[in-house]
Amino acid sequence: MRYAQSVVELVGNTPLVRLNSLTRGLRPLVLAKVEYVNPGGSVKDRIAVRMIDEAEASGALQPGGTIVEPTSGNTGVGLALVAQQRGYRCVFVCPDKVSEDKRNVLRAYGAEVVVCPTAVAPEDPNSYYSVSDRLVREIPKAWKPNQYANPANPASHYASTGPEIWADTEGRVTHFVAGVGTGGTISGTGRYLKEVSEGRVQVIGADPEGSVYSGGTGRPYLVEGVGEDFWPDAYDRTVADEIVAVSDSDSFEITRRLAREEGLLVGGSCGMAVAAALTVAERLTEDDVLVVLLPDGGRGYLSKIFSDTWMASYGFVSNEGSATVGDVLR
Ligand code: PMP
Repeated sequence: MRYAQSVVELVGNTPLVRLNSLTRGLRPLVLAKVEYVNPGGSVKDRIAVRMIDEAEASGALQPGGTIVEPTSGNTGVGLALVAQQRGYRCVFVCPDKVSEDKRNVLRAYGAEVVVCPTAVAPEDPNSYYSVSDRLVREIPKAWKPNQYANPANPASHYASTGPEIWADTEGRVTHFVAGVGTGGTISGTGRYLKEVSEGRVQVIGADPEGSVYSGGTGRPYLVEGVGEDFWPDAYDRTVADEIVAVSDSDSFEITRRLAREEGLLVGGSCGMAVAAALTVAERLTEDDVLVVLLPDGGRGYLSKIFSDTWMASYGFVSNEGSATVGDVLR
């Protein structure tokens, strides 16, 4: 019989799939690494397992302990599923701008969610930074993973994402493209691929226009999970050879095309990464193999990127232009 001992064993070993339609007319082989097949639905399951393993080993997380993290998204899901399997309590702190749907996902996995006002300064005692710090102080045996500064975040990608790409491409990968949020994915995977290829693999970061990684100041953008207004410790500035800035409009257009043309219903940071990958692919040859990482699935964005009304409200046009059944019957 072949089965996993628990859902935690299903994290990682995600597949590569060739992009065919979006890459028409381009020379290199472009492969997408599909992270939504992780049990929690995103690449963040990888860092959750490693951060918890290391905290158990160091004694920072003890039996019966509580995990406290300011997160509303993918990292919370990853932490919650590992925590429940190992008997830890999870308390996540998130700002009130986070949708009820996202909070309910975390609660569904058994986590507790504390909601804080968005419209207060970080030093305000009710801000989500202050509240998470207070909970860590007040809850006995509390531990805060802090994905932005935890070395286990890039280390998880060095140990899993990088070796998987190298093995699955039989060492023929020449370019790696990933979006940058905490920087863990690009730093860990990129460093592994550079080392194993003796510097041959080129590493390219994709960043929303306005974020610090591509020279911005943190100006707002709509794509979620990537870009920052500060430089996190998890980001190793020596790894990326190049950072490509992508507009929200291009990110969302490519996200919609990935669903419609490649059968990949994925999130907005995936469209952003693929947009950067296509820019890079234009200058490559038939001998190149480009791998682009797709961090999560698209179900969490149905009322945003995949809603024509929402897209139109921000002035994004969906140029699909197809007739609907309604048009035909009219
Ligand atoms: N896309 C999404 C949807 C994410 O949640 C994240 C993580 N913040 C990223 C991309 C970026 O990954 P990393 O934090 O490893 O840079």
